[in-house]
Amino acid sequence: MSIVQEIKCSHCSAPISFEPGEIIATCKYCGYTVVIKTGDAFTFEHSMLQNKYEPTEIEEAIKNWMRAGFLKPSDLARKSRITEKTLIYLPFWIMSVEAESAYKGIFERITPSIVKEGKIEKKYDWLVLARKAADFPTREYDVPLKGKVPYDFRKIEAFAKVLNSEICKNEAVEFAKQEIADHHRYLVKQDVDRLIEMKHEMKVNQTVYLHAPIWFIKFEYKGKTYQLLMDGATGIVIKGDIPSTGFGIF
Ligand SMILES: [Zn+2]
Repeated sequence: MSIVQEIKCSHCSAPISFEPGEIIATCKYCGYTVVIKTGDAFTFEHSMLQNKYEPTEIEEAIKNWMRAGFLKPSDLARKSRITEKTLIYLPFWIMSVEAESAYKGIFERITPSIVKEGKIEKKYDWLVLARKAADFPTREYDVPLKGKVPYDFRKIEAFAKVLNSEICKNEAVEFAKQEIADHHRYLVKQDVDRLIEMKHEMKVNQTVYLHAPIWFIKFEYKGKTYQLLMDGATGIVIKGDIPSTGFGIF
């Protein structure tokens, strides 16, 4: 069980509750966002994406996913039962990054091998989940940034849960830089077989703190429980367990 602590909202005086490890918290009653440690107001852009589904409507969206695609059992939509549907606004940091990686490596696919040099130049809206322990497939989530609006607590449904950030902006920036560097190292493998050196230059232009509505779904099919993550802004399944069709060797 986690211990919930409270601070007083300096905007509306209501208690803002937070859990150990959380760094930034948002007031449920007025939407004021505070840096817990200092009590100062959060000064970066705080945005949100809006959820389109009521709990009753989400079932239909899930059933549609179940009916689509030949890899799924044909009776999946009919025979499965949704046992849990929780809407959670997950906190993310989104960094607009201009990244440039200069590299030098050896191309060994021809004889004799040659030394190659090159440069990867890319722009990203890089997404970092602002939670430490959450098992969320961030790289598979194509965040629909076009729909982002300023954070408004009145748009948060009463049945939904809003999670606070456990990662500060600087940590998120470092994390994004590291992930982009890893990604570029992976891309370079297409061009060189052995990397001699690589130098990254990254410019972070903008940072946005964003709450995105994600439906955490559990369903039961033939006695087993499966999980599904659905983007509440678009209805797209971010990740979903697919029960086997049962056509095995037995
Ligand atoms: Zn408040």
